[in-house]
Amino acid sequence: MKKILLVYLPFCTPATPPYSITAMQGFLQANTSERIDVLDLNLEFHMLKFPEFHKYCMNSVKNYSQETKNYLKISAQTYSYNNSQVVEGNKPELFEELLEKITVEKPDIVAFSIVYSSQAFYARSMLQSLKKLNIVSVIGGPAINSKLIELADHTFNEIEFLEFINKVDKKITWFPDFSIWKKEYFTPYPVIPLKTTSTCFYRGCAYCSHFSHTPYEEYDLDMLKKAIIKSGKKHFFLIDDMISRQRLLQFAEMIKPLGCYWTCQLRPTKDYDFNTLKTLYESGLLMIMWGVESASERILKLINKGTNPNDISVVLKNSYDAGISNVAYILFGFPTETQEEFMDTISFLEENGEYIDLVSPSVFGLQRNTPIYKNPKKYGITNIIEEERTALEPKITYEISSGLTKLESVQLKKENKKRIEAINKYPKSMNFFREHMLCRLSDERGKHS
Ligand code: SF4
Repeated sequence: MKKILLVYLPFCTPATPPYSITAMQGFLQANTSERIDVLDLNLEFHMLKFPEFHKYCMNSVKNYSQETKNYLKISAQTYSYNNSQVVEGNKPELFEELLEKITVEKPDIVAFSIVYSSQAFYARSMLQSLKKLNIVSVIGGPAINSKLIELADHTFNEIEFLEFINKVDKKITWFPDFSIWKKEYFTPYPVIPLKTTSTCFYRGCAYCSHFSHTPYEEYDLDMLKKAIIKSGKKHFFLIDDMISRQRLLQFAEMIKPLGCYWTCQLRPTKDYDFNTLKTLYESGLLMIMWGVESASERILKLINKGTNPNDISVVLKNSYDAGISNVAYILFGFPTETQEEFMDTISFLEENGEYIDLVSPSVFGLQRNTPIYKNPKKYGITNIIEEERTALEPKITYEISSGLTKLESVQLKKENKKRIEAINKYPKSMNFFREHMLCRLSDERGKHS
């Protein structure tokens, strides 16, 4: 019997067990007699490096803003230092300790799931070391890049991986089994990430690459129910990029009798009326992260978001009235956005502040495989500049014919920091640990298990 080890690497927030390798483990184990084990080295790194913060997060959290602010500062410095170590050809911190956690398992094959580009640095070092140890390496996931593909022995999706391990017929009965994770993550209650569809059904936004190669598929509700029950947990984070109203209502009907708390990301379209949102709230939905992006009608049209400022305002109020907490994702600096349009968004947030619990602001960055990258002229982009990097795909910058430059947008965001933060009803650092916000909301609802 072969032993296959699925590994998740530093660096990303150690708030939940990784969905990607849990799902892969469930799928492979249901379809092969080989042994499939998992290892979360991202969690291991953070437990070794930040034991005090780990302890702090697992208890009911006090002085949240200060503690988390300190942690975010120190962890960002740690990630940046280690990434530069890898770029300079050195090993990152705790490398030998983490490598030993792999080798002690004596695996025949080690597979890395690369979900965030921030994992590419540690992956680079691991792949180099596994090659020297003659251990077969496999990589997969949405953030793999050409540099990692060169270093790994194989690059597979789950079906290709299954064929590589063992040519057996694919069974359809599998589910992500989160009970395989024995260690505690950095949250007061365990929070389980779940995906209910393969990708976004809307597939329309000009800046988005999430849906580029993935066909839309809705996962079986019975399979999701099994995953929820087997996990034995009460808090669930739907990590779908976006879910349709109809699908969400089906999910709500399934989860309601299980007495859980959950959260998800949505587009604020007018089909989210009060009754729909109330039904969702009554099934345990405590928080929605809304893709508001901008309050400029012109920018929303250019993004092709399929929303408008009036509808967004009504949806936020409906959600608030239904008892749900609202996080507003904002995207400043979309190409051609003017200073006036930027400020309109700030005013909109203030005018709707009563219905918003937390603002999550970011500034536009151009990415490959997006409609805007493929057709830059339509968005006023006159030149795209790509700069080679050691561990990541090239850094992309651009020039525009009109509107704010990226630097000007970053500067304006800084200048309006206080106005934006004054809207928040929860510590802004919860933007980096939204699982903590879900835990706190479940406490406030007074029903946590
Ligand atoms: S940004 Fe969100 S809603 Fe828009 S296409 Fe991407 S995943 Fe879908």
